Amino acid sequence: MICGVDIGGTYTRIGRVDAAFNVHDFKRVKTASIVDDFSAFLQAYIQTHAHVSRIVMGFPGVVNPHTKTVLKIANQPHLESLDIQALETFLNLPIDINKDTYHLFMVDQKAGHLKTQPNILGFYLGTGLGHVIYLNHQIHYGDTYAAAELGHQAFRHSQAQCPCGLKGCFETKVSGHYLTHVHATYFNNIPFAELFKATEHPHYEMLTDMLDAFAFIIASQMHILNVSHIIIGGGVPHMTDFPTSYLTQKIHSYIRHEALKPISIYWADARPEKGVIGAAMAGYQKELP
Ligand SMILES: [Zn+2]
Repeated sequence: MICGVDIGGTYTRIGRVDAAFNVHDFKRVKTASIVDDFSAFLQAYIQTHAHVSRIVMGFPGVVNPHTKTVLKIANQPHLESLDIQALETFLNLPIDINKDTYHLFMVDQKAGHLKTQPNILGFYLGTGLGHVIYLNHQIHYGDTYAAAELGHQAFRHSQAQCPCGLKGCFETKVSGHYLTHVHATYFNNIPFAELFKATEHPHYEMLTDMLDAFAFIIASQMHILNVSHIIIGGGVPHMTDFPTSYLTQKIHSYIRHEALKPISIYWADARPEKGVIGAAMAGYQKELP
């Protein structure tokens, strides 16, 4: 079996996945609680759950899957010091790494019956703002594997500090991070999970403003890359009463090229084990003869 690991900005999920993509011994832990000694966490799991032939990990940032180097993880910088080759030796298992959203994308592409589409864009609104650029039936990695870092493009004139070290990144205004800030500052009398239910709240507009910005960013990418099939996923769109129709309508309102219409949106499901399954899908592809 393949051990899939999905390291998110907030939670890390791990499980063993069989060739039919059933998940066994699924576990979820706070990422902050394991980053200090990630190898001990993996070792404990592998020792307790046998029959693992390969480990595949998804990271919430920039990694080079060929040299197996972790390059930039803005929300969990501790992970940048992880030595994957040393970890392979330590655990005596092959390890593959990739960006977490690429694993989610593989699952969504299959679930959404999008395998025949040559061009797809994925937008994942979770702790950060994840993006996938899939062109001509391939994920576009870019020259230095840092393509599709959409969350770290900048709004002009914004001075808001981003955890990545830069200022004014999209994530400072469009992300779960930002929502947490808005909740703590203006909505602290209601549970975070019910933020989008508070339509009568005097600050509800802050939420629709965020979605308006998200829609604008989505439409811009669709224009630049001339792609009409998109996937929207991540934790935020699965919050109670998330205004899906508002976001859809806003995206449509920002589409300037009539030829891109009708746009096709696949709303990704929220299974917590998705990143683990996607990691295993990538691993089984690698094991094909
Ligand atoms: Zn940033």
